[in-house]
Amino acid sequence: MAWEPVIGLECHVQLRTRTKMFCGCPVAYGSEPNTNVCPVCLGLPGALPRTNAAALAFALRLGVALGCTIRAESVFARKNYFYPDMPKNYQVTQYERPLCEGGALPLAREGGARAIALTRVHCEEDAGKSFHPERHGDRRWSRVDFNRAGVPLLELVTEPVLRSPAECAAFLIELRRLVRWLGVSDGDMEKGQLRCDANVSLRRAGSTTLGTKTELKNLNSIKGVERGVAAEIARQAGLLEAGERVRQATLLYDADHERLAVMRVKEHAHDYRYFPDPDLPVLHVSESQRAEAAAASPELPWAREARYRDDLELPAYDAAVLTESRDLGDYFEACAPRGEPKLASNWVMTEVLRVLKERGWSVSDLAARVPAPRFRELLARVAKRELPGPVAKQVFAWFLEEQGSVAELLERHGVRVAGGDDELLPLVRAVLDENPGPVAQVLSGRDATFGFLVGQAMKRSGGQAVPQVLQRLLRQELAARTPRP
Ligand SMILES: [Zn+2]
Repeated sequence: MAWEPVIGLECHVQLRTRTKMFCGCPVAYGSEPNTNVCPVCLGLPGALPRTNAAALAFALRLGVALGCTIRAESVFARKNYFYPDMPKNYQVTQYERPLCEGGALPLAREGGARAIALTRVHCEEDAGKSFHPERHGDRRWSRVDFNRAGVPLLELVTEPVLRSPAECAAFLIELRRLVRWLGVSDGDMEKGQLRCDANVSLRRAGSTTLGTKTELKNLNSIKGVERGVAAEIARQAGLLEAGERVRQATLLYDADHERLAVMRVKEHAHDYRYFPDPDLPVLHVSESQRAEAAAASPELPWAREARYRDDLELPAYDAAVLTESRDLGDYFEACAPRGEPKLASNWVMTEVLRVLKERGWSVSDLAARVPAPRFRELLARVAKRELPGPVAKQVFAWFLEEQGSVAELLERHGVRVAGGDDELLPLVRAVLDENPGPVAQVLSGRDATFGFLVGQAMKRSGGQAVPQVLQRLLRQELAARTPRP
């Protein structure tokens, strides 16, 4: 029997604010445990929270980019439950009136684009972190670190419209690109800055009723999401094939051992006894704030990718690589000489990406060494066939280590490039004069000998001419020497 997976994702994005959601404690990864805490994020009696305006601005920026409806008045609610790493015994989140609703994240896929519809995006705070002896076997007791308690998160919930593990992975990759693009999160899954839970159910292919869903918790890598969802689909299909029922449950996927474990039978939402947080005011987003956020929205990654494909006529592969980050795309555009996007794309995808990888640099590290105008000048000279490929690559390598324009570097290193026609024409004529035999052969139709003449001319230039220019001049001069009938 064919089963169709129905998957919805709940993603948590850690916002890149300096301080926590409701207090002034720093958001810092890797600090000594329990050093970034205060009465507010420890939930001590009498402490009063204050909403972080930067977190709200980020939330608004993401909501606008995703085309969500932004609520003029949204409300923080307490979600009550006991958990050792949650000092207040409730989490501040949004429930009935979230900041953003609707919207979609477009996915470019082979065989066409698809927009993944969103239910909502809301603000909340993170919990602390427990270290249990099962995983951290250095001690016999569990420890809790509250540094993460109160760190601002956005929760982004999709409609149950994803259909395969690969699509879930594509969604996360696109979401990661977007939050980095907008500068609202670093989206580093290894540091837990982007995490995701998946709701999975199966139904008979063609059916419109939903099957019983299970929730897969704490998928914290792209591969983990893909494999975890695939394992859960396989588990449910096995149950259904055997005529058994799928029970509503929360499961954990253990990526290290590629194993699913049932954590608990699912609580219902009303178990959390949500109610509006009496310590926090209603969030107001005015029409002008919304308009400002929309006006400040940059060209979005998928729009830029489409522009590179359609307007610059770059291959889809190039467009995807160049828009992996906004910095890379910006640098590419600043470096591309007029009318030469493909040349610039080739250089960025090979030389630039290689250097970033080898040296562990960011795009701005590279741009500090190789300012875009300097790189553009180099590429313009390549485009005009004024520099042979190997010389151009050498100049790029010098850019990384030294200051100076293309001309200055060539001069400093004693490289003379024989570039212009004026300079090369006498040389080409001399080669033809000195080789009457091969010239006669080429003129009589034996074009194989042409390569010999190119080689001679190149030798005479000391290897400093651009081969295409020599070839053009040789052809032109040979044509002039062809006896007229
Ligand atoms: Zn604090």
